Amino acid sequence: MRQAMAAGQRTRSTRVHGGDHIDPSSTSSDPSPSRTDPITSNNSSPTSIISSIMAAAQQQQQELQRARSTRQVAIIGGGISGLAAARQLASHDPVVFEATASVGGVWKHCVYRSTRLQTPRPDYEFSDYPWRNREDPTFPTHAEIVDYLEGYADEFGLWKYIAFGSKVIDVKFLGGHGDADADAGFFTEKKEKMWSCTGEALQGKPMWEIGVATAGSDEVKYYKFEFVVMCAGKYGDVPRMPVFPKGKGPEVFKGQVMHSLDYCKLNEEETVELMKGKKVVVVGYKKSAIDLALECAEANQGEGGEACTMLVRTLHWVVPSYSIWGLPFFLFYSTRLAQFLYERPNQGILRSMLCRLMTPLRAGVSKFIESYLAWKLPLDKYGIRPSHPFVEDYASCQMAILPDGFFDMADRDMIRFKRASGWCFSENGVVLDDGTEVEADLVFLATGFEGKDKPFRGLVVDKSGMMPLYRGTIHPLIPNMAFVGYVESVSNLHTSELRCRWLAGLLGGRFELPSVEAMVKHVDDEAEVMRRTTRFYRRHCISTYSIHDSDGIVLRKGNWLAELFAPYNNQDYKEE
Ligand SMILES: Cc1cc2nc3c(=O)[nH]c(=O)nc-3n(C[C@H](O)[C@H](O)[C@H](O)COP(=O)(O)OP(=O)(O)OC[C@H]3O[C@@H](n4cnc5c(N)ncnc54)[C@H](O)[C@@H]3O)c2cc1C
Repeated sequence: MRQAMAAGQRTRSTRVHGGDHIDPSSTSSDPSPSRTDPITSNNSSPTSIISSIMAAAQQQQQELQRARSTRQVAIIGGGISGLAAARQLASHDPVVFEATASVGGVWKHCVYRSTRLQTPRPDYEFSDYPWRNREDPTFPTHAEIVDYLEGYADEFGLWKYIAFGSKVIDVKFLGGHGDADADAGFFTEKKEKMWSCTGEALQGKPMWEIGVATAGSDEVKYYKFEFVVMCAGKYGDVPRMPVFPKGKGPEVFKGQVMHSLDYCKLNEEETVELMKGKKVVVVGYKKSAIDLALECAEANQGEGGEACTMLVRTLHWVVPSYSIWGLPFFLFYSTRLAQFLYERPNQGILRSMLCRLMTPLRAGVSKFIESYLAWKLPLDKYGIRPSHPFVEDYASCQMAILPDGFFDMADRDMIRFKRASGWCFSENGVVLDDGTEVEADLVFLATGFEGKDKPFRGLVVDKSGMMPLYRGTIHPLIPNMAFVGYVESVSNLHTSELRCRWLAGLLGGRFELPSVEAMVKHVDDEAEVMRRTTRFYRRHCISTYSIHDSDGIVLRKGNWLAELFAPYNNQDYKEE
């Protein structure tokens, strides 16, 4: 089985860490899969590479079928969340089904040339695997992140769990006890029951059957598992496309229309070629739109260059660096004292009253940051100063760190801004709702992703567009399944890792879940807090009460001064 996982890929030595969960005898003697992406490797012809991937994947599936008729744990997705889950659940010998040929998820498949992390490096690291250069103040590039993740997989021997080129296309519930009362828990309203009937995550019998399509094969193979961890990601895969009345959509436009997801597939040369000398419109004003506009302006420098116009509907606050009026940014939201000002789920009546009294303080913090941003950046000059408070962007994880040189390009008239609450296509470009026409040869839709249409996410998105997950992980009405990577924070890696550690405790029987009713109440309350904190609550972000959230999962710092004034980062959650 392990050899099958490695079939068709080069043998490499694996550093086996003295980890408590890994079986060294099985890892040290087995070849591990290569971390070279076979698709981009240029050692052989593309045809032979593709056939070797197909052969390897098919053999891998056959072996999986034989060896794993019923296993304990399946993990769907090999991004950050899937890797963290594999590491923390290694004692259950999980299978990680990854649709593509590599680990890293969005960092591999959903990035531009210039995409960098916007979380500071030391905040985006696994608690047991520090960055080699964690003191380096630059934000890591996407390539550095993939490298870091591959190093993590090396360090903890995770390659052997991963079945690459294995796309999960079907998930069927097998569990149930045959009587309706006992089966309560799966999409029923019998909330008083225990989750999964007994409250147990592992029940010693298959609960889910997973259909897997292997790269290069039409056949779908089925495998049974006791527990499934869904780590298929929130972003990427499904582009969000604006809808237009007939005769006003891209069909009338003479130029080219491209979603940012397709732009991610181009190499540097192709992107420059695509944009140089063209009138470009970028629709959107989030981080990916901002990065794209800058790349466009850079490609158009020099003779024959054209300006890029950003079409902005909803404004958001942008931040040049993690320093506000000379103070470190963490002071405002990332210490226990700072988070004391903010509402948190299930906080009780007294605390709710206190929070109400602290409303002016919260507004003051937000205004303080806004005053700096309005002073430092030409937001008024370009008419792009948001009218909503900064904290609403922060509390919905939408704060974008500006790439270097963005407003320099605006000052050189290479990036322009047009506000529009509505727009449509015309033959020669786009027409805004005030009737202005912006000429374009190329329109980029940096309109984000249709998260709710992502595979299996639709399972749990409720009417308001949120995912009601207890501890950001367990849907109270879906038994024997967990979701990791769907709740956001300022460091999604940290949030995913903590949830996986908590999950390991649940699967290891170290604690029990509350009743379904208690979990439903908890998640309802959390959704209410998010709604009250930000109009952008659908993003399911915990950034203003992340320390409290983590407290429910693990506890840390030893002295009260540090508790109050020091920022929390992953090292605080390191296991002794
Ligand atoms: C451009 C960009 C910049 C970002 N910057 C930051 C940042 O600065 N800080 C931060 O904290 N977060 C950032 N994020 C958020 C980022 O999504 C998370 O930090 C994190 O990488 C998400 O990891 P994940 O494993 O949960 O999901 P993903 O990275 O989406 O991984 C999901 C994996 O599941 C696989 N998969 C999906 N469906 C299936 C299936 N049916 N069968 C098998 N496999 C499947 C996919 O191929 C993928 O490998 C950014 C996201 C993007 C897109």
